[in-house]
Amino acid sequence: MNRKHDVIIIGSGIAGMRAAIEAAQNNPGLDVAIVSKVQLMRSHSVCAEGGTAAVIQPDEGDSIELHAWDTVRGADFLCDQDVVMRFVEEIPKEIMLLEHWGIPWSRRPDGRIAQRPFGGHSYNRATFAADKTGFFEMQTLYDTLQKFDNISRYDECYVTSILIEDNLFHGVTAWDLAHGEFFAIQGKALVIATGGACRMFGFTTYSLTATGDGIAMAYRAGLPLKDTEFVQFHPTGLVPSGILITEAARGEGGYLRNSQGERFMEKYAAGKMELAPRDIIARAEMTEIEEGRGFTGPDGLDYVHVDLSHLGADKINERLPLIREVAIRFNFIDPIDEPIPVRPAAHYFMGGIHTDIDGATPVEGIWAAGEAGCLSLHGANRLGSNSTAECLVWGKIAGNKAARYALQQKNFPPLPQEAALKVAEAQVFDRFKPDAKESAFSLRGELQKIMDAEVSVYRTGSGLEAALKKVKELKQRVADIQVKDRGRIYNTDLLSALEVDNLLDIAEVVVVGALARTESRGAHSRRDFPERDDVNWLKHTLAHYTPAGPRIEYLPVTINAWEPVERKY
Ligand SMILES: Cc1cc2nc3c(=O)[nH]c(=O)nc-3n(C[C@H](O)[C@H](O)[C@H](O)COP(=O)(O)OP(=O)(O)OC[C@H]3O[C@@H](n4cnc5c(N)ncnc54)[C@H](O)[C@@H]3O)c2cc1C
Repeated sequence: MNRKHDVIIIGSGIAGMRAAIEAAQNNPGLDVAIVSKVQLMRSHSVCAEGGTAAVIQPDEGDSIELHAWDTVRGADFLCDQDVVMRFVEEIPKEIMLLEHWGIPWSRRPDGRIAQRPFGGHSYNRATFAADKTGFFEMQTLYDTLQKFDNISRYDECYVTSILIEDNLFHGVTAWDLAHGEFFAIQGKALVIATGGACRMFGFTTYSLTATGDGIAMAYRAGLPLKDTEFVQFHPTGLVPSGILITEAARGEGGYLRNSQGERFMEKYAAGKMELAPRDIIARAEMTEIEEGRGFTGPDGLDYVHVDLSHLGADKINERLPLIREVAIRFNFIDPIDEPIPVRPAAHYFMGGIHTDIDGATPVEGIWAAGEAGCLSLHGANRLGSNSTAECLVWGKIAGNKAARYALQQKNFPPLPQEAALKVAEAQVFDRFKPDAKESAFSLRGELQKIMDAEVSVYRTGSGLEAALKKVKELKQRVADIQVKDRGRIYNTDLLSALEVDNLLDIAEVVVVGALARTESRGAHSRRDFPERDDVNWLKHTLAHYTPAGPRIEYLPVTINAWEPVERKY
């Protein structure tokens, strides 16, 4: 049976839950729903470790302008500066709001909220709860959510399409994974908060569930994607699993060393050392490894070391307990005594669904927030601890805007006729045949292999051409994925097929954008075009869906405070 809610939010990460609270708390008469493919607290956001950036100690020397400048410079000037200003002004209020809602922020001996250094920030402004910041933020939002009886939950329901007609939002279709039912949800407003798409890479810090579904659905429904060629590679992915060793490990004083024991960042960013922005450190690590100063790792995963041993047991246990536990459990290494093997891992999607400064997409009634959206806050390279912050700020803004819009609409836009919904249902459940030849698992593996090889820290034109050819070939093979399980309850065969289809659509946009961008900027580093080219490329990439592949156009960058200068640390 179909359902109906004023505001539908897809996703229950930090962005989705913050949006739901904002929509519900100011409007008791408004009917809000959260749809999530996992139980709410299992969303990828619980993985966030190191902190959330905000200026909360202006009396001690930090300033809004400094946070803005750090973000603009970190972004290699591809961010929209009006968006950045709004961000730095709003996030301190969110930190205090979470404080009032009960989050156990780590504290200084004088009782004030503690803040730690993070890469690219010129002040200690990452607010944290040990190295489990995302977990505690999620828990606090989840607790707060319980206060509102005008929020309905659809846990473990997988949204399969966004329904748009005449550029107006009408609803979504969803598959209840636990009970097998397929239904439509009619709505007046939608917030897409479905997270990023780095699972298209093999060596990644991402949760298995973060497969870019919302970005792909939006793209196919006609919403343009922005700046997807900018993928962040985090310098400290644990080898071989890819689990994140938080930047806070370096923020607390950890060193990066090569196989000769050298703190090699001296050569690449002497002023910031281990706390340079991530794109710069990731390139430095790959250079060290490629020039023979790394360690030989399994399956080609050569690595460098992050060394915490000089920090002492007390500091590691108090500030980095999760990192210690992960290193012991997964690598049988105790960081109190031994260095940890790390290399760059796909970590964050700077691009996403194109929105304006309010998170509004070009389709009436649809907003996007969090990692799924692209407001142009992070530009070509996000600074660590600015993402959870963005989720909070634009979760609130998008939730508020969506609620206000829904309240102004007298009627619900109609759902498609029953027959059309039956077609949508068949497109999910009858699309893949039991006797087909391809495996979703192998396709995902092949995609990850080519993305790791050719679309990683360093890129070249010929490598990207090869990646595009492979992605197109894989897209052809999707139709022949075998799904033997014909059931509808927890059918993970079918779910994997749908997810790889989503990843492939976005991978194509990533590669096409990267191939077109003949410069190096932030996380997009072309060996064949090593310089930043502001004359030709200080612009956003916008990709529109066509059945033959993305149609690319470009948008200007908003520069209203700082003109681009050479980026030196
Ligand atoms: C290991 C790790 C550590 C990090 N640490 C930090 C940090 O310390 N500080 C920082 O600022 N950033 C950090 N980040 C980045 C940050 O955690 C993420 O960018 C952020 O949490 C994304 O939140 P989100 O709300 O946008 O989406 P997510 O938390 O990814 O949530 C997406 C939601 O969408 C739902 N969903 C997706 N597809 C569908 C579908 N088809 N149908 C229904 N529901 C769907 C999912 O169920 C989920 O609820 C880290 C990232 C990683 C990987």
